[in-house]
Amino acid sequence: MPLGTGVSARTSHQAQILRLLRDVGACTHAQLVDFAEIGRARLAVELDELGAAGLISHGGKSRSRGGRPSPVVELGHDLRFVGVDLGATSVAVGIANSQLDLICFEEEPSDIREGPKKVLAQVHDLIAKLVATTAVAGISGIGVGIPGPVSYRDGVSVSPPLMPGWSQYPVRDQLAREFRCPVRVDNDVNVMALGERWGGVAKGMDDFLYVKIGTGIGSAMVMKGAVYHGAAGCAGDIGHIKVTDDVPCACGKRGCLEATFGGAALARGALAAAHAGQSPVLAERLATNRELTAVDVGIAAQQGDPVAVALIRSGGRDLGRVLAGLVNFMNPPLVVIAGGVSRLGHPLLAEIRQTIYSESLPLATSNLPIVLSEIVETAGVLGAVYSASELIFSTP
Ligand SMILES: [Zn+2]
Repeated sequence: MPLGTGVSARTSHQAQILRLLRDVGACTHAQLVDFAEIGRARLAVELDELGAAGLISHGGKSRSRGGRPSPVVELGHDLRFVGVDLGATSVAVGIANSQLDLICFEEEPSDIREGPKKVLAQVHDLIAKLVATTAVAGISGIGVGIPGPVSYRDGVSVSPPLMPGWSQYPVRDQLAREFRCPVRVDNDVNVMALGERWGGVAKGMDDFLYVKIGTGIGSAMVMKGAVYHGAAGCAGDIGHIKVTDDVPCACGKRGCLEATFGGAALARGALAAAHAGQSPVLAERLATNRELTAVDVGIAAQQGDPVAVALIRSGGRDLGRVLAGLVNFMNPPLVVIAGGVSRLGHPLLAEIRQTIYSESLPLATSNLPIVLSEIVETAGVLGAVYSASELIFSTP
């Protein structure tokens, strides 16, 4: 099993050079002098050190634009970043090359409630399998997204609801020990937002609001190109904002957004309607599949089932109200709706849009695109490999 390469940027100039090479690709020495605002002599010293560590490679001379040909530098060809996306019911792992293109990706069913020992053993085996099949020489760093609140600083989950055994479990330190490389752990929605910014609809956007509707609901605020974590690390946790007085929530309080909308709430609503004889379509699906999920609600809505359509509308309205407040507060230039339940598509998006546009300040929504993610499956892993690269491409 190849272990970590154990190298990362040692100076702030090196960090800056590595991020530039990641973000814009190969650069000439002349471009690095300009972009990094660094003298030629200093640049030569930093590049020597980066080259010796395998973090960059020298790629010949540039085709001159009239002046002297300038040597070209690019990221080390052997850099490999691992991304891990832990979900409530699945685990996905991918490995990316130096330019953060995924060279492999695999997703498996997994139950987060089985606890960190079992789930992390599955993660370990999945990484080992992908490393072997893609002949990776060494892992540069690992990024991990975990559902629920995460202490970004300590690399642990903190009291995640419905995840027995995970609170304060040393996820970061265990993986770092197993693979002998730096590991960064963050909340899954924060990580997905970074993936959306790297390779999705928010590509290149420095500010945006990202909302994930999965089993539960969460959000991430990206500001100046980075996720805003808040004082303790739980900024963006909007699932437990109160939207009504009734409806008990899994967190123990009442009337949370997550209690009225999200995959779990849709499934509950569909089950109640099927049992009450209000929806023959949902009752039939229940009889066939023995359970109902958000997917069944989506299919029933497509078939014109009024109960399913009403469930989506009322959920979209509850979420839209919370988002209208956030839009007033943050005034983002873009809102991205993601997560498995976003696959309900246009009827849901229409309801969310209508509520935000009618309940937010006109100035905040005057030029505000509200769009669906286009990389629902891979956003988490892509964000996790980006997060790993941020760790290697920054000073300790
Ligand atoms: Zn709650």
